[in-house]
Amino acid sequence: MQILLYVFLFLVVIALIFFTVKLLNVFEKKNTKFDFFIKNIEIYMKRVHPNIGINYSIVELVKNEKNEKIKETLVIQDIVSQFYNFNFTKKTQKTIPKEKLWATYIDNPLSSSYPNDWLQRKEFAYVRDNKSCKRCGQNLESLNEVYTSFVRPVKEGGGYNFENILTLCADCSKIMDSNLEKSSIISSLKLYDNLLKFIED
Ligand SMILES: [Zn+2]
Repeated sequence: MQILLYVFLFLVVIALIFFTVKLLNVFEKKNTKFDFFIKNIEIYMKRVHPNIGINYSIVELVKNEKNEKIKETLVIQDIVSQFYNFNFTKKTQKTIPKEKLWATYIDNPLSSSYPNDWLQRKEFAYVRDNKSCKRCGQNLESLNEVYTSFVRPVKEGGGYNFENILTLCADCSKIMDSNLEKSSIISSLKLYDNLLKFIED
């Protein structure tokens, strides 16, 4: 009789250990998945937009959210908002020595539209700006990805001279130069789409 009791107790202990391990696994898996998601986002932001210092305090704020997708979406919305709010002041760029420019270059061509050598100017500024966005630091692989901005807008008397030209990525160009509302700009950012890809189905 006593042996049966021992066997029963033994089985109860085994069952308890089994369920505890199972339960711990479940928690660990949940944590790992979200941690992994955050880690990936961090790596992505550092690699693609190195100038934007992101504050990840949102991770702590959403930790009690049970729905994983909502939790991850809240993190992404916060990061995109920080990207939008990142403070960047356009500054006049260094002068390029005349001998480094082409012979026909004129500082401020008298024209209300882009000068004839605009493409050359754009490419020159792109190389000067290390082929990357001045605001977020994104590496721009080719001239097709380049958006230019003027330190002093042309409408306000700014010129097409190099000192007044800045290289930006598509997203930063929207943020700096678009007149649309914050919410419309944010929802149209490439960054938003790219981060949403980190949410698994
Ligand atoms: Zn940028």
